Amino acid sequence: MSVISKVVQALEPSATIAMATKAKELRAAGRTVYDLSLGEPDFATPDHICQAAVEAMRAGHTHYTQAPGIPELRAAVARHYAATHGIEYKPEQVVVSNGAKHSLHNVFTVLCDPGDEVIIPAPYWVSYAELVRLAGGVPVIVSTTQESNFKLLPEQLVEAVTERTKVLLLCSPSNPTGSMYSPEELAALADVAIERDLIVVTDEIYERLIYGDNRFASFPTVRDGLVDRTVIVNGVSKTYAMTGWRIGWTLSTVEVAKAMSKVQSQETSNPCSISQYAAIAALEGPQECVAEMCLEFAKRRDYVTSRIAEIDGLSCGEMDGAFYAFVNIQAHLGKSYGGTTIDNSSDWCLGLLDQQGVATVMGSAFGAEGYARLSFATSMDNLKAAFDGMAAFIDSAK
Ligand code: PMP
Ligand code: GLU
Repeated sequence: MSVISKVVQALEPSATIAMATKAKELRAAGRTVYDLSLGEPDFATPDHICQAAVEAMRAGHTHYTQAPGIPELRAAVARHYAATHGIEYKPEQVVVSNGAKHSLHNVFTVLCDPGDEVIIPAPYWVSYAELVRLAGGVPVIVSTTQESNFKLLPEQLVEAVTERTKVLLLCSPSNPTGSMYSPEELAALADVAIERDLIVVTDEIYERLIYGDNRFASFPTVRDGLVDRTVIVNGVSKTYAMTGWRIGWTLSTVEVAKAMSKVQSQETSNPCSISQYAAIAALEGPQECVAEMCLEFAKRRDYVTSRIAEIDGLSCGEMDGAFYAFVNIQAHLGKSYGGTTIDNSSDWCLGLLDQQGVATVMGSAFGAEGYARLSFATSMDNLKAAFDGMAAFIDSAK
């Protein structure tokens, strides 16, 4: 009998991290690997942000901080939100954590009693359902379709709500599909949330990585009265290429913020002091770096779109933001690849890695069998080689 708790025994490991680890192991063993697995900007953290961290260390900011983050960063987040979205939050409504993943863990921990249901549209980011389960909640997965560009429709939401529903979770722009809700689409979901008295957790971590003429709307801005039922999740990881610094945050009611701060005071004491100062520099310093990185991601998105269109049988939805393509591989399942029949997305992605050294993540990990997720947060050279490998893999199938 295992000494491990039943909750943790039932927990799935993160598939994105597992595929990235596999890719790194193969590379360490001498294989050439084209890694499209992890959603992590390949750019260096901009220098002025690194400088701020050095200055923070020199100034002695190397000790514990307040549990929900230093007041200067909480105020900077609130200011940033008011300036970009026009809603005033007080610094007490901001809680800074060790990355947005940790913020999400705190959110579900403070919101979920055992059995409370959290509606999660699929395809979803790998960690959502597991974090809900870890908090004792019940993830209720509602599948969307490629035809709706993987967006939850209001009538689907109405159908999924039960007496136990407490939370609707949204991610826009989406990991893993790149699709983004329009203000009108969000408003239609908001109407259901208001009518059925749901809390909405809105993961807006890709809000600044938007392409073309698309316009991002933060969820609580689309209808009056939403602020009190919304928890916004965001952070510096994607916007400023700061994944390793581990800074994320929430904007919520004071009640929810205080509860998360209490949990955090027992769990982790506080987020890294030095990273918090770096995050202030990110938010308040020059923003050209964001536009430059976004422009580069946009070029890669166009390249990825054209390569997917060239390969027979592949398709994907419209990528409005973020840096993922969620590719429909259904036409290439049930075929023989080098003598082995591949029937599902997991075997397809593992076969592609094994035979061509191209690392992707299976759609099943995002609650959508028949798809593979490709991250284009990687160099154009890497993308070219990866697509050549994928085309050869598909060509080899009989
Ligand atoms: N939400 C989404 C949708 C993500 O893709 C990620 C990526 N890691 C996170 C949250 C967590 O980000 P962080 O690195 O800040 O923990
Ligand atoms: N969010 C990124 C991804 O989906 C990083 C890995 C992770 O945290 O899952 O690939």
